[in-house]
Amino acid sequence: MTQVAEPDPGMIGGVPTPPLAILPRPERLFGQRAARFDVLAEGSNLGPYLRFLADLARVQARLAADLPAPTPVPSDRVALARASRMPPIDRHDAGAEPLLDDTLSALCREAAGIEMPAAARLALDAVAAATPDDRRWLLGNVLDDAIPVDSPAPHLFAAAAVQVHLARIAATLDARQLVPIRTGVCPACGGRPASSVVTGVQGAEGTRYAACSCCQTLWNEVRVKCLCCGSTKGIGLQSVDDGTGEATVRAETCDECGSWVKQMLQTKNPALDPVADDVGTLGLDALMRGGTWRRGGVNPFLIGY
Ligand SMILES: [Zn+2]
Ligand SMILES: [Zn+2]
Repeated sequence: MTQVAEPDPGMIGGVPTPPLAILPRPERLFGQRAARFDVLAEGSNLGPYLRFLADLARVQARLAADLPAPTPVPSDRVALARASRMPPIDRHDAGAEPLLDDTLSALCREAAGIEMPAAARLALDAVAAATPDDRRWLLGNVLDDAIPVDSPAPHLFAAAAVQVHLARIAATLDARQLVPIRTGVCPACGGRPASSVVTGVQGAEGTRYAACSCCQTLWNEVRVKCLCCGSTKGIGLQSVDDGTGEATVRAETCDECGSWVKQMLQTKNPALDPVADDVGTLGLDALMRGGTWRRGGVNPFLIGY
């Protein structure tokens, strides 16, 4: 384990006005995620699982392109949300939309052609055959960030459908109409981050964005700040020591609330994906499990690991 010194506060926020939010382009996002899962699968002992997630992300990209367009959030609702500092996408309303259930049905159909472990296949068949009540339960747990640890497999497919559905709704928003809600909360849908990325994109280089685990929006957060409690005190960084001292994925720890969330340095590797590389760096989770902090990042593809 490498104890990395706290970043120099003088380096924080080198850019005057980074955009608050970067909305997803769902087809492209899931396509790029699939390609990243493919790369991560090479030579990894998690190879079969990462390849399965690559195929699942390809299904997500296809659905994002092919399904009927979701209803955009009405402009009066966006204005009201803005005035009351609430996210414009109500995840509970979204959960009741027939298009979400259609998305789950389409995902089950398309995913049936993917190679997957027997347990995942059983879960997929069960989701495809589930009653409307059971499907609402699955989708509701995902939308509440409350996936029961004893049933990760059916929720994985439900979560993949929720990601597609909410990313498509988020894509209809105008990023300039969003306002910060509070630290660690997605300004588009109120979701929690999977991880955060320090972007290398020119013009915003060094700016940190939290990545919504639900609607896939990226939102700006200052760099030395806990994404779970908002504390700027007691923040540290931990990483797996690969001997080079150049880890691109690090755990940001908070001594105030005892949580940690991954931070990915796209400045060093622009291909890092906040969800795929979260799964691809399970070694960091294993390391952190031996420490005093508990994982704060939300990722339905890691439940049960
Ligand atoms: Zn979101
Ligand atoms: Zn904290």
